[in-house]
Amino acid sequence: MKKKNIVLLGSTGSIGKSTLEVVAMHPDRFNVLALSAYSNSQLLAEQYRKFQPDFLHISDSNKFEELKNELSSSKVEIFTEEEELIRLAALSEADIIINAIVGSAGLLASLEAVKNGKLLALANKESLVTGGPLFPELIKRHKSKILPIDSEHSAIWQALASGKKTEIRRLLLTASGGPFRELPKEEFEKITLKQALNHPTWNMGNKITIDSATLANKALEIMEAVILFDIPVEKIKVVVHPESIIHSMVEYVDSSVIAQLSKPDMKLPISYALFWPDRVESSYGAIDLAETGKLTFENPDLQKFKALKLGLEAAGVGGTAPAIFNAANEIAVDAFLNEAISFTEIADTIDSCLQKIVVVSRPSLDNILETDYKTRELAENLVGNLV
Ligand code: NAD
Ligand code: MG
Repeated sequence: MKKKNIVLLGSTGSIGKSTLEVVAMHPDRFNVLALSAYSNSQLLAEQYRKFQPDFLHISDSNKFEELKNELSSSKVEIFTEEEELIRLAALSEADIIINAIVGSAGLLASLEAVKNGKLLALANKESLVTGGPLFPELIKRHKSKILPIDSEHSAIWQALASGKKTEIRRLLLTASGGPFRELPKEEFEKITLKQALNHPTWNMGNKITIDSATLANKALEIMEAVILFDIPVEKIKVVVHPESIIHSMVEYVDSSVIAQLSKPDMKLPISYALFWPDRVESSYGAIDLAETGKLTFENPDLQKFKALKLGLEAAGVGGTAPAIFNAANEIAVDAFLNEAISFTEIADTIDSCLQKIVVVSRPSLDNILETDYKTRELAENLVGNLV
């Protein structure tokens, strides 16, 4: 069987490392062409030695020389310019581009992969949220395809095999509810960084861990689902499911609900995307249902989780509203991670940006990039003023 040539952007992060674990289990099925990281040159060098890609990219120019020196005896080509990162997403030999970068920094690479007709295995939901209005037309024109890695969207993708698009009544997007599901609203003011970084069911990068605590992650996932599955926001319902065993569901018009279940392990949706259209033997996330016991469900509390409420509204508005939501959230989460603002000020920052930045309903790429930039500028000011 011909090996799939893969490009993995964001290889040093949580999804990046899990992807390389899957790849390492199947050396006969994959050939790694390129890897990229923001600044972790040590880990990138280690990954180079193990997977021998032809190209490496490191965004942090201070680490560029260090990486070149470290690998001076190898024949690998190393880049640091942003254009080179984007170029890697379009390598002609690549069969599949995996985008595991965090934040809207992944947008241009996702667009480039799609414009070059690639299969894009996408963990970087922020690129789809920010650039949402641009993707459907580009995917159609360039005969590209997005293979979702996000566990909820992978579950929906799998459940969609059970019926036709016209037969969908609703998508049921599950949410763990995060660490503060049961905490009274009055105590949200006092939430510490350490508490917010302690996710009950998933082990992930810092940004998405905070997004899961505010439920901004679920808001981003609604916006992601609207674009990926071409479905109106009114047909998406969030269901809180603290055990994180059901990863999402599709409800059909005859009232049948089709779900995908496993223990929480991102290697399962990663494998599904990498091997698609096949499934391969593996035990990632295998469950014993009797041992798992009870599965419970509840509605999300939109009063407590203001970011989810704002996200639902932004998804309904469409155009650049999701890009504003995302950029404001990225800046606010960064400030919270630096202990510059409180937990509740994350949603307050998003709220102010959504009120102040004008939405473009049918945006061009320039409109989107400008909105992203302006929102970041405003949010930086807001979080600066909050300190
Ligand atoms: P992470 O912070 O652990 O890793 C991010 C990766 O992106 C690292 O390799 C980092 O070097 C690189 N990176 C960061 N900023 C960059 C920039 N400006 N330019 C280029 N590269 C940059 O994040 P993660 O948890 O692996 O999440 C990655 C993406 O996958 C996010 O969009 C997240 O929402 C999504 N996701 C993650 C999980 C999970 O379990 N971790 C689950 C579902 C979806
Ligand atoms: Mg998810």
